Amino acid sequence: MSRWFSASPASRFGFVLLLLLPIAGHALEAVALAPGVWMIPGVLAEVNDGNRGRVVNIGIIAGAEGAIVIDSGANRLQGEAILAAAQRLAGKPVSLVINTHPHPQNVLGNAAFAAQGIPILASEQTRARMAERCPRCVAAIAEVVGSEAMAGTAIVLPGLTVAATETRSVAGRRLRLLVPGHAHSEGDLAVHDLDSGVLFSGDLVYRGQVPHLAEARIDGWLGALDVLRREPARWLVPGRGAPGTLRDLEPLAEYLVSLRARVAAAYAQGRSLDEALERAALHDFASWEGYASRHARNVQHVYFEIERADLIGARGRQ
Ligand SMILES: [Zn+2]
Repeated sequence: MSRWFSASPASRFGFVLLLLLPIAGHALEAVALAPGVWMIPGVLAEVNDGNRGRVVNIGIIAGAEGAIVIDSGANRLQGEAILAAAQRLAGKPVSLVINTHPHPQNVLGNAAFAAQGIPILASEQTRARMAERCPRCVAAIAEVVGSEAMAGTAIVLPGLTVAATETRSVAGRRLRLLVPGHAHSEGDLAVHDLDSGVLFSGDLVYRGQVPHLAEARIDGWLGALDVLRREPARWLVPGRGAPGTLRDLEPLAEYLVSLRARVAAAYAQGRSLDEALERAALHDFASWEGYASRHARNVQHVYFEIERADLIGARGRQ
């Protein structure tokens, strides 16, 4: 049993079962969450040569008419392994892939599914951002994980899009597709499987890891967490870290609220970015993965967000 799993709070829940699937010579882990619902856990780390971009949690739901896969992995090889795992677990072909947002580790496995004619769905904003950025993001991730890991990887845009939150039947399963607007990314989409009560948040929720804010709007993200809180979900599968319940999104909310408050206070006092960096150290979160490498960048991002809003407001008052 992996260290991730034995350390996971998920093991407190009686329904969790770890399965090892031998796929193409590798053992792939899957965690059973509810009847017909699984996740393949990502590694809680930055993308690197060792994990080859396998850093986000992947969801699998078995519908009466086919399987649904939530996020496709960081490259074609990962996409193929996820596709094989989904078919093995669900015992039926995959009917649909959902991309939760346009980050490379969530979408670059699409090619494996497209090769089998499987449709891909995302928010309209995710599709637009992928069209704009993905040609660059393939090269960027290849620089880190190497060209061998990215063999055969090409951009495949979602053919199906949703513009706003809606409930629809997919492969015999009722899914609520939540589109809360610009939050962690421009195109976040969370999937609530109404039949099991499992909510897949994508990167709207991180657990035990400092979140990436590079493309975020911090106010929008806090608003999106309110949207998730209102869902009557039994279980939460975050984009990063162990599964749990909706209560487990609160530490991330506390991080974002504290970050915004500290940076806003420093800005209001006329402090420079360097001074804000000193004043916005959040020691309560220093044990989270990525604090040393990512927190300062998040402070900078929020400082610029606040500054931009202030300058636009000042122009409006003239
Ligand atoms: Zn992301």
